[in-house]
Amino acid sequence: MHPAFNRLFYRPALGCSESHFTAISRLFSNPKPFRKLECKLKLLQKRVSRKRLGSNNRKKAQAKVSRLHERIANIRKNYHWELAHNLCDWAGMIFAEDLNLKALAKGMLGKHCLDAGWGQFLQVLEQCCFKRGVFFRKTDAKKTSQTCPNCLTETGKKLLSERVHSCSHCGYTTDRDVAAAQIVCIRGLAAVGHTVKMLSEGKFIGIPTMKESPSL
Ligand SMILES: [Zn+2]
Repeated sequence: MHPAFNRLFYRPALGCSESHFTAISRLFSNPKPFRKLECKLKLLQKRVSRKRLGSNNRKKAQAKVSRLHERIANIRKNYHWELAHNLCDWAGMIFAEDLNLKALAKGMLGKHCLDAGWGQFLQVLEQCCFKRGVFFRKTDAKKTSQTCPNCLTETGKKLLSERVHSCSHCGYTTDRDVAAAQIVCIRGLAAVGHTVKMLSEGKFIGIPTMKESPSL
């Protein structure tokens, strides 16, 4: 595989427990650094509810809850920036699925998405790419996990529990999120006028100069 290949595929993995998002040959784990703090938050919230309504003690307990909320939000944001910078360190181009986050939040995957602070991460990533001169583009998210990246045959819907992509047409087998990332990449490259084949033949010349302004 051409080395440039490695740098291109990014796709947030949907509601999946161990990977926050996926790149070819690099599965980043979602460390959930907040679990401990969230336990603490619950404890503090419980304390508030035990205090008498309108009492000073209740106000004090509530203030503690607010401070912790703020702390968690800050840690999360810093973590997202760190992650985004890491990606920009080794990627020339980043493609992400253009997910309809509002619809997702309503659906079954909502909790996972919100948990990982998904929308925020994508925003941070886009900002970070803009600052660092890394090409960023969102691509069509339709059927990314239902198409074989090797032969482009539609393989049908996968259950969330199916973690492996295995094509009945060409026999290509890989991690489900990696396969979806490849599809995102193929689409992203097509959108900027490159093909995976050009890439593997070393015809990939550079990052497209065209730049999208962050939609913030
Ligand atoms: Zn196939």
